Amino acid sequence: MKRVHNFNAGPSALPLSALELARDELLDFEGSGMSILEHSHRGKEYEKVHDETLGLIRSLMAVPETHDILLLQGGAHQQFAQIPMNLLMPGQSADYVLTGGWSERAYEEAKNVGTVRLAATTGVDHGGKTVYRRIPRFDELQLHPEAAYVHITSNNTLFGTQWAAFPETKAPLVIDMSSDIMSRPVDVSKIGLIYAGAQKNVGPSGITIVIIHKDLVQNARKDIPKIFRYSTHAKERSLYNTPPTFAVYLARNVLRWVKELGGLTAIEARNRQKTDVLYAAIDSRPDFYKCPVEQGSRSRMNIVFNLPTPALEDEFVAAAKKKDMVGLKGHRSVGGIRVSTYNAVEPSSIDALVAFMDEFARSKA
Ligand SMILES: *Cc1c(COP(=O)(O)O)cnc(C)c1O
Repeated sequence: MKRVHNFNAGPSALPLSALELARDELLDFEGSGMSILEHSHRGKEYEKVHDETLGLIRSLMAVPETHDILLLQGGAHQQFAQIPMNLLMPGQSADYVLTGGWSERAYEEAKNVGTVRLAATTGVDHGGKTVYRRIPRFDELQLHPEAAYVHITSNNTLFGTQWAAFPETKAPLVIDMSSDIMSRPVDVSKIGLIYAGAQKNVGPSGITIVIIHKDLVQNARKDIPKIFRYSTHAKERSLYNTPPTFAVYLARNVLRWVKELGGLTAIEARNRQKTDVLYAAIDSRPDFYKCPVEQGSRSRMNIVFNLPTPALEDEFVAAAKKKDMVGLKGHRSVGGIRVSTYNAVEPSSIDALVAFMDEFARSKA
């Protein structure tokens, strides 16, 4: 069996052990004579999986009892709408910080629900297109004293920037962590709401993790459809409607792997090591590889860089593919090269890529 070096931006690489366990358990889940896919979501077999997944999220992220953990559907995109539907009261506004394509989408969608304010943007014009090269400094944020919440995107998947630390805000902080959830420890007690599609660091597509302070659940708007109320899902332990049972199961397998590795402190050290090697490879050839991101804003999850010309970038991607390295093309709206180094990407894949980068640059010198 051949497994490639998978640098996909999402859905993305999964730990081999998580896939192997799914394979081994597929036809007969724990002696029940059927797969977990075929079990009722109200049965004890699935309930056990469901609770284990929720428990692993709580323990790995050290989520305090003040917060609920919800497993929802609709991806981060649904949260772009569901957050203001629940948290934005009539007469109030919410603050948005723009640092990339996803925060732009969150902002635009929230406008369809209520009043939003631009608290800061790091977007600059680049030949008629808005690009983002950095995270704002805390003193650039113009926060409204009465805002319902402040929305930020912790890691900018397209532009390769990441908040190294989060601002202290008076209003609850709402964070789109889709592309860096569980890549490092964060202090959940300081955050009002965290949301993330699972398909980058936690599992397959199909589940969205929402970690929300219980006060926000309680005080949320009640005049919205029941299915969109956070309180509905909090009360029913995310079993109000049929959850994506297989996605929850596979996330369980991934989270077991994270735990075995030593939890988020160990994961962070591993991710740091991977990206240190990669950034060093880029910076060692400034005449050939260029990371457009400002030093203090560089992402530890999506590393973007350019070659001297778009034609060379295409050649780079094609030559890498021949060496079983896939998923290196930058997002269609940005171009260049993007290396996604999510949790499940092995350090050995980064080593292979770095060796290839060296070889490729030398062949063009
Ligand atoms: C991938 C991604 C999204 C979109 O997620 P969907 O599950 O497709 O809705 C949103 N925000 C960030 C930061 C992402 O990386």
